[in-house]
Amino acid sequence: MAFTNLGDLPVLPQPESFALTAAYNEDSFPNKVNLGQGVYRDNNCQPWVLLSIREVKSNPIPLTTPSNSPISFLTPSQAEQTLHNQQVNHEYLPIPGHAKFLAKARELLFSPQIGSQDNITSIQAVAGTGANHLAAIFCARNLRPKNVFISDPTWDNHHLIWEIAAPNVTRKLYPYYDPSTRGLNFDGMLSELENSAEENDVVILHACAHNPTGIDLMQDQWKKIADVVARKKLFVVFDCAYQGFASGDADADAWAIRYFYTTLFAKSSSPTGPAGMFVCQSLSKNFGLYGERIGALHLVTPPSLPTQGAKAHLVQLVRAEISCPSLFGARLVHTVLDSAELFSKWQDDVKTMAHRIKGVRALLKSELEKLGAQGDWSHIEQQIGMFSFTGLSSAQVRQLRERHHIYMLSNGRMSLSGLNEGNVAYVAQAIKDVL
Ligand code: PMP
Repeated sequence: MAFTNLGDLPVLPQPESFALTAAYNEDSFPNKVNLGQGVYRDNNCQPWVLLSIREVKSNPIPLTTPSNSPISFLTPSQAEQTLHNQQVNHEYLPIPGHAKFLAKARELLFSPQIGSQDNITSIQAVAGTGANHLAAIFCARNLRPKNVFISDPTWDNHHLIWEIAAPNVTRKLYPYYDPSTRGLNFDGMLSELENSAEENDVVILHACAHNPTGIDLMQDQWKKIADVVARKKLFVVFDCAYQGFASGDADADAWAIRYFYTTLFAKSSSPTGPAGMFVCQSLSKNFGLYGERIGALHLVTPPSLPTQGAKAHLVQLVRAEISCPSLFGARLVHTVLDSAELFSKWQDDVKTMAHRIKGVRALLKSELEKLGAQGDWSHIEQQIGMFSFTGLSSAQVRQLRERHHIYMLSNGRMSLSGLNEGNVAYVAQAIKDVL
């Protein structure tokens, strides 16, 4: 519908997680708890700057020219001025982004061995969201799939991104969550792709730490999905927003992506498989760089096909959207990934985050059991990543908020990072109260 009077435009609802945080911030109740937003918090429920990132910000770092070649280093006496130091230049990056950051980010995702293969084209993106958005526009313009298959449920932005960026592609849901078992509906997922997807259709897959359910596929299940994708020539868009954060092991969390690469796109794979595969890489959660908006989009194409055309089209989309990407996050992540010492610190950082989340999962479950809260709470411990899909109804979630000042998404998704040793008993008691 066209509006000539823009005053008639209807007001749209705010994204729920952002609206919840705003409401939480306004709440003056001293024991309020924010389990809404998907951001890591330390055991005091405070934002946490990773130790590896802190070190980059307080140590000499290479200055980079627009072409990304280091030209000089800050001296130690300048060090405390950090990356924000006025001596660091602020030139434009090339349109595809910070080349050295991209090479390192690709290695992190695919492994150094796969990451050096020439059938992966990488481009910097405005975090994971920007990567998803670029992937959607690129597919809509160049692949022209009939359908995009989206997991039910999913990160709500998948729908909005594809609705806006690819309006001619029909959005279809594939079953993912089974409320009766609070587990994965794998048979439903597989048969939907097997029976309803057509050649070149897009399938969005969460690489690890599925948002919002916290339920991931096992390796043998991934193999079955890869088999359907290969046979039916489907185009996978992997969304990887929690590498390292999920299990504490960045390699383990990238297993599915590497498996799909090896079976579908390595030199030894069938030459008549899918047209390609995208991987949307967010570095927001696993580097704690939420506001820096740093990410990458990787396009994998069949071996020995030319890649220059596809890259040129991605570059054109970036040019039209943001002209060229931002520098600061790319510098930070590149500096960590380029140093053996900092990389090892980062590996400890993701373990710290993953282990804290695992710890509060166990605490919440045991508090609920101690209180005799009705039902089986083992799913809280079995799920992985930032979220638990608790099984609480929207009415119960509303009561948690109205009676107990506990904020979480109406679909029952709880961000575990808002829990700590000091508030877990309060939250468990409140859950028991609304059951
Ligand atoms: N994909 C998924 C599944 C997510 O959960 C998120 C973050 N909530 C993103 C993508 C995007 O993250 P960002 O844009 O902050 O990197």
